[in-house]
Amino acid sequence: MNVLEADGAALLKAITKLLSAKGVLTEAEIAQQRSAVDNAPPGQGARMVARAWTDADYRAQLLSDGSSAAEAMNIPMRGMPPLGVLENTDEVHHLVVCTLCSCYPKAILGYPPYWYKSAAYRARAVRDPRGLLAEFGTILPPQVKLRVVDSTADYRWMVLPRRPDGTQDWSIERLAAIVRPGDMVGVTIPTTE
Ligand code: FE
Repeated sequence: MNVLEADGAALLKAITKLLSAKGVLTEAEIAQQRSAVDNAPPGQGARMVARAWTDADYRAQLLSDGSSAAEAMNIPMRGMPPLGVLENTDEVHHLVVCTLCSCYPKAILGYPPYWYKSAAYRARAVRDPRGLLAEFGTILPPQVKLRVVDSTADYRWMVLPRRPDGTQDWSIERLAAIVRPGDMVGVTIPTTE
C-alpha cells in the first residue's frame, strides 16, 4: 500500500462523516485542521539544521550531542529522551522510523506527519526502505548506503540533511525556511525549488 494513502484513511473518512453528520465539526474544518498539522512549519529543527549548515562548531555539537545543541537554541530538553543526530552525506543516507509506535522528537520537529505513525510506513521503512523513499520522490543512487534507524521511547533520532547546492549566499532564515519535517527524518531531501 502506498504510504501516502496509509492505513487509517478509511477510519478517518468514517469518523469525518460521523462528526459532520452529528454537527460536531464540518468536513471542511477537519480537512483544514489536518492540513494545518501536516504542513506545520518544522520550526525549531529547521533552525538547528540551518545553523549547522553555516556554523562548523555548531554542526560538531549537533552531531555529537543533539540534546545540548537543541538547548543551545533555547529548546527545553529537560525530561526528554536524548536526541541523536545523524548526518546524511554522499555516501550514507539515514532514514528514521519508530517501528514500535510513533516516537518522534516533538520538541524539535513538532507533531509527526500523519504517515509517520502509519503501520505501512513503519513496516516498509524496514522491509523496503528504497521503495518507500521512492514514493516520497527520493531516489537514492545505488552506491549510497542506506541506514534505517529506530527511534524509541529512550532515544530519538533526527537527520542532518545535506545542504542543497546553490545556497552558499543564503541567510540562516532563508535556509531554515526550506527544511521540511520529512528532510529531518530522511524521507525527503531539501531542495531549493
Ligand atoms: Fe514510538
